[in-house]
Amino acid sequence: MNATGAIAAAVVPAAGRGERLGPGAPKALRDLGGVPLLVHAVRALTRSRAVGLVVVAAPADGVAEVVALLDSHGLEGKDIRVVAGGDTRQESVRLGLAAIPAEVGIVLVHDAARPLVPVEVVDAVAAAVRAGAEAVVPAVPLADTVKRVEPVRGGPEPVLDTPDRATLRAVQTPQGFRRDTLAEVHAKALAEALAEESAGAGGALPPVTDDAGLVERFGGRVVVVPGHEEAFKVTRPLDLVLAEAVLARRRAADAY
Ligand code: C5P
Repeated sequence: MNATGAIAAAVVPAAGRGERLGPGAPKALRDLGGVPLLVHAVRALTRSRAVGLVVVAAPADGVAEVVALLDSHGLEGKDIRVVAGGDTRQESVRLGLAAIPAEVGIVLVHDAARPLVPVEVVDAVAAAVRAGAEAVVPAVPLADTVKRVEPVRGGPEPVLDTPDRATLRAVQTPQGFRRDTLAEVHAKALAEALAEESAGAGGALPPVTDDAGLVERFGGRVVVVPGHEEAFKVTRPLDLVLAEAVLARRRAADAY
């Protein structure tokens, strides 16, 4: 294995508005224990010795603000770059990926909205790619039974079926990829979206909500490694309450 190819870079899409959290700053800049979610997420990545570079895709009108924020939280010694993100998560990842030097062979993609991912998860994902997987996702079993429904605004919604819970996993980030695989599926997805647009068939394909989903769409092989309950995504106000509690417990335990 060549040494530069074995060090991973991480892309952090952080350009979302986070409307489900309620009104306020972009989600990545919301406060968690006195520190923005994004800073927690970037720190979690830089704690991993597998990660040599972090590229943050910031809101297009907030690049300077994000640079200043990362500097003011003691991250200036690390190799962190900030680029303007896009209108969709997928576009933000593609723009972040384009800023990674060509010699980097492994890319992790980590949501800014998962501030408390333990370093063990980051390490395990990078290690699985290093060991030969082209796409790796951390995931946890589901506590709830899941039903597929026919969506009806306001309900009631007819149930179509109930997948066997034992075969389902809730997928987290960071997701890890061979760099060539990730670049290829993003390029194909872009070409597909442009073709759809010019055919006036926007929205014909189901949305892909994670990067591994793109690999699956184009016939690649994705494997799952164990995730962690503390790698949950901060989406709704209650998630912030839980994140504050987890952080307080960590700070009490080891001056985190
Ligand atoms: O909205 P959701 O929680 O799925 O967003 C997941 C991640 O994607 C967040 O970190 C968010 O900031 C990022 N995102 C982005 N660019 C967008 C939309 C979302 O970087 N246009």
